[in-house]
Amino acid sequence: MRALSRIADFFYPRLRCPVCLTFHEGLCITCRASFLPYDESLLSESESGISMYRHQESVKILISNYKKKMIFSAGDLMATLITEKLSAEEERFDFITFAPSSKSSLKKLGFDHGAYLAKRIGRQLDIPIRALFRPSDKEQKVLERDERSENAKKIALLSENMDGLKGKSGVLVDDVYTTGSTVTACLALMKIRGIEGKYITFSRI
Ligand SMILES: [Zn+2]
Repeated sequence: MRALSRIADFFYPRLRCPVCLTFHEGLCITCRASFLPYDESLLSESESGISMYRHQESVKILISNYKKKMIFSAGDLMATLITEKLSAEEERFDFITFAPSSKSSLKKLGFDHGAYLAKRIGRQLDIPIRALFRPSDKEQKVLERDERSENAKKIALLSENMDGLKGKSGVLVDDVYTTGSTVTACLALMKIRGIEGKYITFSRI
C-alpha cells in the first residue's frame, strides 16, 4: 500500500487541486465554491451528529480520488475540513474512532480509509484514536436500504480496545452518510459501554 501511495503521489503531486487535479496548491477556488453544506434543517432533533456537505459531484470526486485513486492529498483535505468543523463546535471529545471498513472493502481499496482519516484528525485535534469496531462480513455499499440496517447490526465492539473509555466522549468519523445505519449502530454500541458518542461524516446523501 505504501508503495502504491507513493506512486499515486508521484503522478498526482500535492500541487494539484485534490478534486479537479489541475495545478493548484490545495483546493482550487472553483472546487471550493462547489462544496455545498448539508442542510442541517433536514435533520431531526434526535440526530446525534454532523454531516458536512451534500453528496454532489465535486464531493463525490474528492472522496473517490482519495479512496479509489489513493490520492492522499484528497484524504488530507477531508481530514483538515473535518478538523476545522469539529474545532468550531463547542463540544470537545476525549478520543476519535472510525466506522469499520468491511474486509471486502479493505481488500478492494488496499487500505483503511476511515482509520487514515481518524488518525489525521486525531493528530490535528490532539486527541487519541481508538479502533473500536469489527465490521460485519458484507460491505454496506452493495446492499439495499433495508438490508443495510440488518447488516449494520452485525458490527461488533473490539472489547480489547475498550479499556478506560467508560464515561468518556468519542467522535466517530465516516466519509459518507447514506442511510445512517452504520453510524447509528456504532454509536449504540458505544452507549452500551457507557461512552457518549457523536458522529461526523464528510458528506450526506
Ligand atoms: Zn479544483
